[in-house]
Amino acid sequence: MGVRKVAIFDTTLRDGEKVPGLVLSLNEKVRIARQIVKLGVDVLEVGFPGASEGEFEAAKEIVSSVSGPKLVCLARPTSRSDFEEAWKVIENTEKRGLHTFVPASDAYRSHFLKKNREEVLKIGEEAIGYARKYTDDVEFSLVDTWRADPGYVVKLVQMAIDSGATSINFADTVGYATPREVISLMDLVLSEVSLSDGVTFSIHCHNDLGLAVANSLAGIEKGISQVHCTVNGIGERAGNTALEEIVMILETRKDLYGCRTSVDRGEIYPTCRLVSQITGLLIPPGKPIVGANAFVYETVVPQVADVKEKPPYEVINPDELGIKKEPELLKKDASKEELGARLEELGLSLNPDELDKAYDAFKELAERKETIFDEDIESLVVEEVLKTPARYKLLYLSVSAGSISVPNATVQMEVDGQIIQDAAFGRGPVDATFKTIQKIVKRKPKLTRYLVNAITAGTDALGEVVVGLQEDDLIVMGRGIDSDVVMASAKAFVNGLNKMDLYRKAPPISEFTEDEVFAPIL
Ligand code: MN
Repeated sequence: MGVRKVAIFDTTLRDGEKVPGLVLSLNEKVRIARQIVKLGVDVLEVGFPGASEGEFEAAKEIVSSVSGPKLVCLARPTSRSDFEEAWKVIENTEKRGLHTFVPASDAYRSHFLKKNREEVLKIGEEAIGYARKYTDDVEFSLVDTWRADPGYVVKLVQMAIDSGATSINFADTVGYATPREVISLMDLVLSEVSLSDGVTFSIHCHNDLGLAVANSLAGIEKGISQVHCTVNGIGERAGNTALEEIVMILETRKDLYGCRTSVDRGEIYPTCRLVSQITGLLIPPGKPIVGANAFVYETVVPQVADVKEKPPYEVINPDELGIKKEPELLKKDASKEELGARLEELGLSLNPDELDKAYDAFKELAERKETIFDEDIESLVVEEVLKTPARYKLLYLSVSAGSISVPNATVQMEVDGQIIQDAAFGRGPVDATFKTIQKIVKRKPKLTRYLVNAITAGTDALGEVVVGLQEDDLIVMGRGIDSDVVMASAKAFVNGLNKMDLYRKAPPISEFTEDEVFAPIL
């Protein structure tokens, strides 16, 4: 049996970005895109340009910053302008495709589109025809496939093939399917549909029941040759199919599946870490493949005869994923060139100005911290270099707290270019700091979440704080890193305020009120 190729379609920046509260700046999106390209995915969904001006600009910027994989943009089937915008973004790239969709289930169709089944078939046909005017590479998605009538699914697939779609993507939009149902639906489709040359099948799963990866694998068993994934499985609700899990299952069990992907496994860990760092979505310790405990063994295993022998409990070699067991540490007196070279290895190529900034921050950290790990340098760059200049800037913080005194904070900030200083008391140093910032910015967002995480080992480790802030209906996450946890908290709070403004300037997916436009996405 020959080895079959399974294409990895990455949608981290389109579907993955829909994590509640996650707002990424242009710069952050570009960094993530570059690393995902380095990882070696086959297809990169760069966004949904028709959603808003900001989405259009971001997609354009990503497209001009990467090359290699096929670049795909999403367009709503009933919006001609979506296709125009999407095409403007990708038209000058070498490998490109358009992606559109219709609701397959009655629930989605009647709730969002208010059309009958026949009308939706027509909408799909027209949308594919419209996309084909631009390109012969068209992916057509069926939204909410596994709650749909299987007979209607067959009709939609046949219509899509006959209309010229080149990839048919089955989306389990609400994470409802089970592996057995994936297999039975694929059996039905393969027996009922007349296939054309060059048409391939794809799958897009959500993890509401924890089955996204299992369902994608079931699809692969039935001839599906492309899987939609996100790095770390990030996405709406419980997320999407985790890219690193699919890739490592196919690699580890190639004896069973006989499949390969084009992913460079040595880039898996750096990619997962970068996405976690930039999004502030922490990787749970027990997460398969890349969790901190994924390769740590508590059980005492009887001494094996040959110590060089691979331990019997290790089915994946962590070295293969780019996890260095004892990484070489950067010296505290490293030169700017040495820092630049290390950052390059970590997937962060900086321009000369950015490297100057990074080097200043590095020297400052080296004075305060005993050992500098790669994670420290990465966090530093994410925090000090990649953050876009914004309305609020934290300049100075002084707190006093203890068992006797009333905790109080003094904060100096730059607000719209003006320097403001104030002070306030609180129940603890973090509370006092947040109250002072609120006084300065004259805004009172509700704190919905507060998480602290040590990025590296030791008591002088860099602390990472993630806050959830709510103002009216808007919830965003802010993130701050510092060797002082109170300072990291202040940075996270200020970052959250700036992210709120970023979101309000360009809501990632705008509200669609016109009834001819189908809003909910696969
Ligand atoms: Mn989705």
